[in-house]
Amino acid sequence: MLDRFGRNIDYIRISVTDRCNLRCVYCMPEEGVPQIPHGEILTYDEIEEICRVLSGMGISKIKITGGEPLVRKGLPFLIERLKNLPGIRQVTLTTNGCLLKEQLPALIKAGIDGINISIDTLNEEKYREITRGGDLKQAMEGFHAAVKADACPVKVNCVPVYGEEKEELLSVVRLARENPVHVRFIEMMPIGWGRNYLQLPEEEIKKVLEEVYGELVPYEQVLGNGPGHYYTLKGFQGKIGFISAVSHKFCDSCNRVRLTSEGFLKTCLQYSCGADLKHLIRENEDREKRMEALETAIFQALQEKPACHHFGEEVQGDTERKGMSRIGG
Ligand code: SAM
Repeated sequence: MLDRFGRNIDYIRISVTDRCNLRCVYCMPEEGVPQIPHGEILTYDEIEEICRVLSGMGISKIKITGGEPLVRKGLPFLIERLKNLPGIRQVTLTTNGCLLKEQLPALIKAGIDGINISIDTLNEEKYREITRGGDLKQAMEGFHAAVKADACPVKVNCVPVYGEEKEELLSVVRLARENPVHVRFIEMMPIGWGRNYLQLPEEEIKKVLEEVYGELVPYEQVLGNGPGHYYTLKGFQGKIGFISAVSHKFCDSCNRVRLTSEGFLKTCLQYSCGADLKHLIRENEDREKRMEALETAIFQALQEKPACHHFGEEVQGDTERKGMSRIGG
């Protein structure tokens, strides 16, 4: 599915809930976000139907996100249904890992193709601070269970907060030395509460890693579905990746759209443009008409997908007001 700039859109991130069992300081306010009534959230049937239309239009890879996707009941059931759609090649998950250990067998049985675990630090106290009460042990149990199961690729995503101690960065990176997992540093984006934090520049992180582990050698092959660029470090099993949306903009190769838990198709992280698919799906009783209406709306929204974001610049147009927990990251 090509947009008007010739970008091939084949990847969607679907937020299945805005709720989360953590309260990361850059993602949510302390009291949590106002909860969206259950009836306003897409049902699994509705998500499946939208994905059926999307897969017919060229989407082949789906990332399940949230909020925390594992707090929504029956997630493996949804994953299994999405995996069975014609044209869908991959269904992966991003999670904070805290509920992963218990749910891993069901996720594997459902055919999950990859699991990203968000861990910003391996310092228990700092983790509790960043997540406002989270227990690092739970996240690490999820991580180790997923690595041990060896059923699909596991990656660690770390959003370093400016001022993070060198030792903390190094400890997260060690996960890629001791385990066959890639560790990716994701640059803080000025979305929601992320606006209150400074980015830790990629160059600074590299400097810290190189001081201890030697040269980061660029890894030229493509890894994953996203815009990460990767390096190898001598003696490491996994690669080290950087996803730096602000300082190393990659919009001209953007391959993605997002579906919020309320059924809004977002075509750019920074802007509020897109299409309200929930209304279309709930207004049309006739299945064929519904599918047609969805396809038309998706096509139109894609034609209006912005060329790029303008983080850190003067912006024209309507920007996104929602925080990351409601967009899905
Ligand atoms: N709860 C799941 C998780 O932890 O992976 C999925 C949702 S969470 C919003 C997805 C990712 O977005 C996490 O890795 C989180 O650290 C990241 N994130 C949240 N706010 C961000 C921001 N302002 N800039 C960059 N990444 C952010």
